[in-house]
Amino acid sequence: MRSTIGWQADSATRTLRRTVLERRDLRADDIAVRVEYCGVCHTDLHALRAHGGGADGALVPGHEFTGVVVEVGDAVSGFSPGDPVAVGNIVDSCGECRMCQVGQENFCRAFPTLTYGGTDRQDGRTTLGGYSREYVVRAAFAYPLPEGLDAAGAAPLLCAGVTVWEPLRALGVGPGSAVAVAGLGGLGHLAVKMASALGATTSVLSRTPDKVGEARGLGAREFVVTTDAARMEAVRDRFDVVIDTISAPHDLAPYLRVVAMDGTLSHLGHLGPVTVETMDLLAGRKKLSSAGSGGRPSTADMLRFCAAHGITADIELLPSSQVNQALERLERNDVRYRFVLDMSDLD
Ligand SMILES: [Zn+2]
Ligand SMILES: [Zn+2]
Repeated sequence: MRSTIGWQADSATRTLRRTVLERRDLRADDIAVRVEYCGVCHTDLHALRAHGGGADGALVPGHEFTGVVVEVGDAVSGFSPGDPVAVGNIVDSCGECRMCQVGQENFCRAFPTLTYGGTDRQDGRTTLGGYSREYVVRAAFAYPLPEGLDAAGAAPLLCAGVTVWEPLRALGVGPGSAVAVAGLGGLGHLAVKMASALGATTSVLSRTPDKVGEARGLGAREFVVTTDAARMEAVRDRFDVVIDTISAPHDLAPYLRVVAMDGTLSHLGHLGPVTVETMDLLAGRKKLSSAGSGGRPSTADMLRFCAAHGITADIELLPSSQVNQALERLERNDVRYRFVLDMSDLD
């Protein structure tokens, strides 16, 4: 075993404390990554809430990070020590099912191994995440970080970014598309940037008018306040794709109403049961869909696209020692638009 330092949840209080962690010795197809920057995702908050009071003491969140390769296993050919690298929220999959065979490891029928809180397919140990100074990962699930991408701003691309990228691509968004993004947070602000860079005319749907200037700055042409009934009626049946990144449970009906005929509402921010009035789908043959994370090919594509178009997340960079404050502020949506932790204070 190798040891490193990370931020681990105290099971009684959900507070993260600086702790010595064990990482596995490198397997032939592993690389060891010195984690430089790790994004703070809503999933981390959910995991901590679910974990509070639990019996299993080991929870280290963090599943969107960038860093530098420090060591490679004997069979690794694609990476060398010193290479900049990025890792997202899945670190292994069965490799054999239909989903894995078409490069959708995120939908692996045997369930992908999650970057934290997952179970390693070989040793059965619980995976510990990227809120740490070092991570050991199968090289196949690490991605070269393209030159020109800021390593801190790129970290959130590996979860928030690819989660909006896959549906934008799968739904054929490109020049001429009309896209609306609901919810302007970690996912939403990247959806606006990516859809605009893909050539779509992009709008933002928001409950309050206070983010209008920011939305324009991100590339949105139009800003629609969803509580303004007249404005919502004016954009009825308008958008080919609506990317819904709102993280709290909410009524889908207003968002379905603004989807164009044969268009799709992609419901990404909230996981769980939803209620849909089928008439809202019937009138206009509208589709309701969801997605999450990304397969290996589309993750690599997304990073190349972002490098070519200069897209990174808008972040607030904090020393990792402020991780608990970051989580607290994220819970109140007090961030524009993603916290990223600088891990250099763990040395
Ligand atoms: Zn995430
Ligand atoms: Zn599989």
